[in-house]
Order: sequence, then C-alpha cells, then structure tokens
Amino acid sequence: MKNFYNDKTYDLGSRRSVIRELFEYGKKRAQEVGEDKVYDFSLGNPNVPAPECVREEIMRLASLPDSTSIHGYTSAQGDVAVRNAVAENLNQRFNSHFDKDYIYMTCGAAASLTITLHALATDGDEFIAFAPFFPEYRVFVEGAKAKLVVVPYVEPEFTPDFDALEKAITPNTKGVIVNSPNNPSGAVYSEAVVKKIADILSKKQAEYCSHIFLIADEPYREIVYDGKTVPFIPEYYDNTVVCYSFSKSLSLPGERIGYIALPDSLGGKDGLYPAICGAGRMLGYVCAPSLMQKVVANVLNAMPDIDAYKKNRDLLYGALTDIGYTCVRPDGAFYLFVKALEPDANAFSERAKKYGLLLVPGDSFSAPGYIRASYCVSGKMIERSIPAFKELFNSYKN
Ligand code: PLP
Repeated sequence: MKNFYNDKTYDLGSRRSVIRELFEYGKKRAQEVGEDKVYDFSLGNPNVPAPECVREEIMRLASLPDSTSIHGYTSAQGDVAVRNAVAENLNQRFNSHFDKDYIYMTCGAAASLTITLHALATDGDEFIAFAPFFPEYRVFVEGAKAKLVVVPYVEPEFTPDFDALEKAITPNTKGVIVNSPNNPSGAVYSEAVVKKIADILSKKQAEYCSHIFLIADEPYREIVYDGKTVPFIPEYYDNTVVCYSFSKSLSLPGERIGYIALPDSLGGKDGLYPAICGAGRMLGYVCAPSLMQKVVANVLNAMPDIDAYKKNRDLLYGALTDIGYTCVRPDGAFYLFVKALEPDANAFSERAKKYGLLLVPGDSFSAPGYIRASYCVSGKMIERSIPAFKELFNSYKN
C-alpha cells in the first residue's frame, strides 16, 4: 500500500545527517565512559560566547515595557528599520549601495539559501556547488526541485577546478553556490579565485543568453585569521545573492537569524525580490524572530572573538601535523580538514570512535578520504584529545 506521508521527507527525517548521528553518539558515549573521555569534534556549534554587547542588547530589549514592538509580528520580509540598518551597515563596510527594499530577514543561512533557491528554481534548473560543501546543499537544492551539480576541488588549497566549472555550466544552470570561508575545508577564496569564477560565469551567461546567479553563502564571513581578507563577492559579479547568517559570527545558531541581500547591481532585482518574498511565504519563513531582528540591527559591527578560534586552530593544527597527519592550515571558519589514514574515511571515523574521537567523514561533503574536525570547542578538550590522536595514528603503523 502507498504510504500516506511523503516518502521523500520521511526519508530525510528518518535518516539523521552523519554529523548529527556522531553528535548524538557522543552524548550517549559520554554517559557511559565519562565526558572527559569523549572528544567531540562533530558539530559546528560555536563555543565562544556571543559578544557582550549582544547579551546586553537582548536584556535591554527584553525588558522594555512595549512588548508588542519587540515580540510582535514584523513585516513578512523583516522590520523596516532593521532592514535599513542592515543595508546601511553593508554600505559602510563594503562601499556598496544596498537598499532596505531588497533585504529579506531570515531564520539563518539555511533559510536564506532555501528561500533563494525556491525563488530562482524553475523546472529542469541546475545549481552548482564546489566540493567540499555543506551537506545540506543537496537537501536544499533538491527540495527546490532542482538538480545539484558538483564541481570538484583542486588540492591542496581546496579551490574549485575551473575547467570542470566551465564544463559543468549548461543552459540549465541557474546558480552557483559559493561558500568562503569554507565549511569544511577552512579555505578562504582569494580575489584571484573569485575573479576567475566571476569571469567564467559572465562568459557563460553571455554564451547562453541566460541568468546565472552566484549565491554567496556567508555565515563565516568574519571568521578569518592572520589578517586575511574575504573578497566581497557582489564587487566582482553583478548577479550575486548574498545569503548571510549571524549564527557563527555572533555565536547565535539557536536564535535563527540572518538575511538575504540583493545588491544594487543585480539587474533583475525587481523581479527577484518579490519572488524571494513569495518563496518565504510559501515556505512559512515570514517574519524572522522579532526580538533577534532588533538585537542584530543594533550590534552589526560586533565581531567574533577570533583570537579564541585562532588559538584552537593553532593548537589542533600544530598537534596533528606534529604527529604526522596531513592537513591544510585553515585561513577561516573553524574546521580542520584532515586526510584520513586509510582511503575509506567512514572506516577511519569508525576507528577514531574507539579512541573517543568524533570526526566527520568527508564523504558527506563530497570529499571522500578526508575527515572534518570542528575546533569551535574548548581548548582543554583539544589538549586532552591529543594523546588519542597519537594512539589513532600509531594504530595504523602496526
Ligand atoms: N551554510 C554553511 C556553509 C554552514 O556551515 C551552515 C551551518 O553550519 C549553514 C549554511 C546553516 O547555517 P544556519 O545555522 O545559520 O542556518
């Protein structure tokens, strides 16, 4: 008999993501053997507290007497003063020309991406993602009834394979998702890389007389080390949709707040913005959390505690490379992408569990043979985990 529920959503809901699976395993295991014997590098849940100004702003707004103006519905696309603040802040920082009427407040990057994909996708459309990529891209793209096309990376920098990109673009290509600083590799695309991507897309748009959008997924925009700069993609390509989230930059992942911003240069923005509002409406992503909209509007210049993440990066990268592991020193985000010690990263991740190490196999990021270690964890846990990494390494020598 045919199921009464949607088989596709059943499938998505009954199979946890590999990352969540490891996280749940870690919690169970900690109860069995003690928390100090489990080294959980699975989730990208920032351990650094939200900046003090965020806490103060939450307290201040929550204690105002006019509760409706803080907790009531805002416009579906977000409070007008909040959208104005976001646009002005972008303009100050990037010398750009964003306008409040092309900003849509969302429940984090996941919503920014799904709304954008639904607003753009029509039957038969394809979206390109550069491996390695956030596994949910596949769910988001397929959920919008479009096809995900994967372009491989070039080692050791994990930059896109440009020849493969050229070949992957067809008349059906509607968009290319770019995520820099990158989850899971920590790579930050240089200006040359962004320019090259922009050149290829411009050439292909002209060749196919089509619109190809660059979807800039930017939850890690501010998390970069050693003075690296992150090129602001709308400066290089007109048809860019910025999908932002405060989850990582302000350590607010559970508060679900972000935005979509259409730059002034985006030719079809008067068509795309209503389509974004409609997609938000269709998906039920209207009126992002009201209190959080107002909080972020007043702390738009707050920065994450980069030093804390940098310390962790240096500690983990230094320790693992000293032991003999191979990995690229990440320039941004808070993930270390490490070569597994056997070709099958799933088997490697399983073996790592025996030593208490929870490492995400790269297969779900379309990068088999690697594991991802999130270092947004306590420095003490990293220190305690180092002997386990050594034992794991030595187990491959015997
Ligand atoms: N995009 C990337 C690259 C991510 O790493 C994440 C979360 O880890 C998201 C999107 C989703 O972010 P949010 O929690 O703001 O929805």
